[in-house]
Amino acid sequence: MTAPLPESENLNSSGVLELSTSGEAEAWDPEKILTWAIKNFHPRLALSCSFGNPEGLVLLDMMHRIEPAARVFVLDTGRLPQETYDLIDRVRDRYDKRVEVVCPEAGAVQEMVAEHGMNLFYESLEKRQLCCRLRKVEPNRRFLADLDAHVTGLRRDQGVTRTEVRKVEIDAGPGIVKVNPLADWSLDDVWRYVRANGVPTNRLHQAGYPTAGCAPCTRAVRPGEDPRAGRWWWENPDTKECGLHVDEESEGSGI
Ligand code: SF4
Repeated sequence: MTAPLPESENLNSSGVLELSTSGEAEAWDPEKILTWAIKNFHPRLALSCSFGNPEGLVLLDMMHRIEPAARVFVLDTGRLPQETYDLIDRVRDRYDKRVEVVCPEAGAVQEMVAEHGMNLFYESLEKRQLCCRLRKVEPNRRFLADLDAHVTGLRRDQGVTRTEVRKVEIDAGPGIVKVNPLADWSLDDVWRYVRANGVPTNRLHQAGYPTAGCAPCTRAVRPGEDPRAGRWWWENPDTKECGLHVDEESEGSGI
């Protein structure tokens, strides 16, 4: 059951985002999109930040400047690297920010590892997707169910599964608004903002990790190699999503 969308100048009487807003937003810069989102949805809006890529931290910095009480949450899968936990605490100190930590259902994870082992994700696509579903997708759904909108760091050039990302869209899963302010940014744009604003980032980037996901499923890549090669490197590129950002029915490979 998803929560109804709130009254908003950009929502029609059925609670549906006006298409004109979505189209108009394509020309907006990230700060304008975030200002619009915070004005319309805060505090039922939260940034989904993995603390494992610079995009999330850029957005956290931007949102904090617009509204210091802007919400941020992280999915703690239980398999994150120490560097990511360190970064969460660095952000808490730097911004005096309360980070909302969302955990998987303990019973479901216990049952999964008892049945399939601790490192099931290496054995098959199905088992990897099961692990992602229990440790990421279900906790994410549970958290989003209490929101009207969420913000993500998705960019269109991040891989074959993300080329259609729009700056403002409806997230078909939870049925809430999904805001992707960096959709048309390049990775260079992201790092330029990080350097210009002294944004804290994950120390694993300095060790060759383009992103830092769960420790057993993330690795460093060689210079010039596709950044997505650092995630689930034993799988086909078309299946490289954890299920957080794909429509399960249409994409199939999401979870
Ligand atoms: S990334 Fe790996 S360890 Fe993390 S939830 Fe997915 S399969 Fe499990």
